Amino acid sequence: MNTDLSRRGFLKLTGAGVAATTIGALGFGEAEAAEIAHVRPFKLTSTSETRNTCPYCSVACGVIIYSKGDLRKGEKADIIHIEGDVDHPTNRGTLCPKGAALKDFVKAPTRLKYPMHRKPGSDKFERVSWDEAFDRIARLMKDDRDANFIAHNEAGVPVNRWTTTGMLAASATTNETAWATFKFAKGLGIAGFDNQARV
Ligand code: SF4
Repeated sequence: MNTDLSRRGFLKLTGAGVAATTIGALGFGEAEAAEIAHVRPFKLTSTSETRNTCPYCSVACGVIIYSKGDLRKGEKADIIHIEGDVDHPTNRGTLCPKGAALKDFVKAPTRLKYPMHRKPGSDKFERVSWDEAFDRIARLMKDDRDANFIAHNEAGVPVNRWTTTGMLAASATTNETAWATFKFAKGLGIAGFDNQARV
């Protein structure tokens, strides 16, 4: 017996096999063949599985994203299903209602997919490139930090505070990325730091 058979692999196999073997056990050989011919293929059989993390809250449940289309062949991937990852130590395959509705979030026409900028005085946001966005953010941060960084308090004690810029990070991340993000913020002296899980 193959002891490495995964739960998903087991379900794929048994989903197609249960009905047929039940009829076969009763001695209806032809009926079994007809039944097999009408069993609908398991809808996730030919999909690609991608592990990811639910972006909504700091529980950071593991999800598996199922997509059609082979990127290696230049095809466009289309997500058709998202479910909890049974192998993930945090959620063991479960998802709360927000996580269970992730596919709608991914496919929402209002979803933000690229940086947007609303110029001073404008009433609308305009799409900008990532380079443009990063350059602008870096410029504004540098100027603000140069103007407002507090190296020492009134008693002359080094405090290295930057209180005029805050940083909001994402909660759906790994411990390592969170560590690097926090180091980045605190290395600059940013005092106001939080993540979107508490927004
Ligand atoms: S599935 Fe629910 S509990 Fe889990 S990370 Fe997403 S929002 Fe949080």
